[in-house]
Amino acid sequence: MTTNQITDISGFFTLRNGVKMPYLGLGVYLSKDGQEVTNAVHWALEAGYRHIDTAAIYRNEKGVGEGIKTSNVSRKDIFVVNKVWNSDQGYEKTLKAFDKSLKQLQLDYIDLYLVHWPVTGQYKDTWRALEELYRQKKVRAIGVSNFLKHQLEDLMESATIIPMVNQMEFHPYLVQQELIDFCQQHQIQYEAWSPLMQGKVFDLPELQLLANKYNKCIAQIVLRYNLQKGIACIPKSSKRKRIISNADIFDFELSEADTTYLDDMDRNHRFGPNPDNFEWSYVL
Ligand code: NDP
Repeated sequence: MTTNQITDISGFFTLRNGVKMPYLGLGVYLSKDGQEVTNAVHWALEAGYRHIDTAAIYRNEKGVGEGIKTSNVSRKDIFVVNKVWNSDQGYEKTLKAFDKSLKQLQLDYIDLYLVHWPVTGQYKDTWRALEELYRQKKVRAIGVSNFLKHQLEDLMESATIIPMVNQMEFHPYLVQQELIDFCQQHQIQYEAWSPLMQGKVFDLPELQLLANKYNKCIAQIVLRYNLQKGIACIPKSSKRKRIISNADIFDFELSEADTTYLDDMDRNHRFGPNPDNFEWSYVL
């Protein structure tokens, strides 16, 4: 993957197959289906976002699709991400789940399709289905989510296409630098979920000090940190002001020392499940 400069919202990271993935996207987990998520998509596109991250399990694909369809932005300019849920894993089930998601979204292709979690005993078959969807050009890129190094290595043993993206929990309390380095070595674009610690970054006084120093807010510091590390991110908000503010991160640059400072806040602390002992039947 190659990194262009982090200068404006239209910037992107380039995946191994040449597809451009806008480095800042809108997350929609817990945005309600219907008007709430449709509005969020509209506001994000108006603010210049060109990347929307949803999943079948968020149960808001219809509203997301409506937002895309009724926006003023052309479909081809929007990078749409979706994920196959755990109970749909396996070769045939994944193909079916993909078709269902396309219908819900009212789209005829997805930009990036991800294996949501590494369901033991199934993720290899699921991956074969993603490879097939890629060959059929129903998806422009394929990747995984929540895969630790050993799960990536195991998958890569039999895969004919190496995942192009790994979407992981990432924030100052969970850096997993070894995994980031491993992904970089294999040209697997790293992407952060819960970059704002599901709202908990706002409780950290050391981040407030950093925000004061740059005359920015805590969310902006943390999101800029993601992009400067070469990590794509998808902060979630369903509020117009916050969606706009979360994208106001292109008029400053964190010093190397401050990036290191944020790295050093790492506590290996997860707010989400651990991919090694996740309850597969758990429904979000
Ligand atoms: P985030 O870290 O993005 O935090 C979202 C929370 O922060 C919401 O409560 C939001 O509230 C609040 N918030 C956002 N911006 C601001 C702001 N500027 N000021 C104050 N509060 C703010 O958490 P998510 O867990 O949602 O992660 C982001 C996205 O990652 C998800 O939406 C989803 O798309 C993806 N994801 C993927 C997972 C995976 O397994 N692959 C797992 C979890 C998430 P409000 O909406 O009220 O503004």
